[in-house]
Amino acid sequence: MKIIRKNEEAIIDIKTIMRSLLRLNLLEETMAAHSFRTNAYKSAAGEVTSMRGDIPAPILAHHDRKRARGRSSVAAVRHWVCTSCFISVPQGRRSHLTQCDDLSVCDNCGSYLFLETPDPTQAAPAPVPVPKIKSVSPRARVAAKKSVQRLAVARD
Ligand SMILES: [Zn+2]
Repeated sequence: MKIIRKNEEAIIDIKTIMRSLLRLNLLEETMAAHSFRTNAYKSAAGEVTSMRGDIPAPILAHHDRKRARGRSSVAAVRHWVCTSCFISVPQGRRSHLTQCDDLSVCDNCGSYLFLETPDPTQAAPAPVPVPKIKSVSPRARVAAKKSVQRLAVARD
């Protein structure tokens, strides 16, 4: 796993950075949704300040540019498609995402990409049972046809 050195001692791996960026986006959206006087805003602002110190400056600058345009700086990749701009992730970038060895940026929208993994805590939805179609005997088919004809006659 590739590591980024920060201030020569702190070593932060890619997964930690992505987790921090996701949390930062969430907190900044919380701050935008609340008045600055509320407790929700204050607690989010406090966490944002402490988190920003842990993220390397170039990554933070890229994040701020995206946020200034009102967009999230991270996007999940679902079925090899960026969920921010819905453009397919090139074949060459897919290995970076699966191995998580480098930060991947979407060529189209510039979001930091992470591979969406299914939540193991949520059980997969149960398969919908396919109803069995009963085979209808020829006699029953004739009886049904006659009853429909009788109804049609009764209506006229
Ligand atoms: Zn994109």
